[in-house]
Amino acid sequence: MSEISELRPTEILLSEAQIQKRVAELALDIRHDFPDDLHVIAVLKGAFIFLSDLIRHIPGHVSLDFMAVSSYAKGTTTSGEVRLLKDLDTALSGRNVVIVEDIVDTGLTLTYLQDILLNRNPKVLRTACLLSKPSRRQIDVKVEYVGFTIEDRFVVGYGLDYAERYRNLAHIAVLG
Ligand code: 5GP
Repeated sequence: MSEISELRPTEILLSEAQIQKRVAELALDIRHDFPDDLHVIAVLKGAFIFLSDLIRHIPGHVSLDFMAVSSYAKGTTTSGEVRLLKDLDTALSGRNVVIVEDIVDTGLTLTYLQDILLNRNPKVLRTACLLSKPSRRQIDVKVEYVGFTIEDRFVVGYGLDYAERYRNLAHIAVLG
């Protein structure tokens, strides 16, 4: 059988309670930094659960938009290639924009996104990532809000998939 069917979530790296507590903290940090205008851009698909929990902890008004990129084929290794699959619906000019991403690994995807979005003249552009794997970084990309720093392990759950599986786990687990 293929590699896909043999790999499964094993140990729990981050529990649902740990994630929920940290996401609430990040939400308040972001609101504190942008008390008025705040426009959040989520990167599909992996960030959708992080986004939905995050915005429910942000008091006051926040607007949303979505982008979709593809940086991974099936499997657990990066292709190094980033493709824009879905662009934004709204302009960013003069807005305080926060990109919401599931995980920063090599940094290729975020660097690509930040370059595209900076060209659209936001007033401020910042990035929030639930997870960061600094040991894997190929590009020194700036991420202002990091949920958790983790070791170089392939993780699933809380929006993160392996071959489109396991996004629905409430916790984050190591694939093994
Ligand atoms: P980067 O361009 O920083 O190497 O990769 C970013 C993207 O790779 C993430 O948005 C995510 O889709 C995927 N990725 C990186 N590490 C992991 C991981 O441990 N688990 C999963 N499911 N996806 C990952």
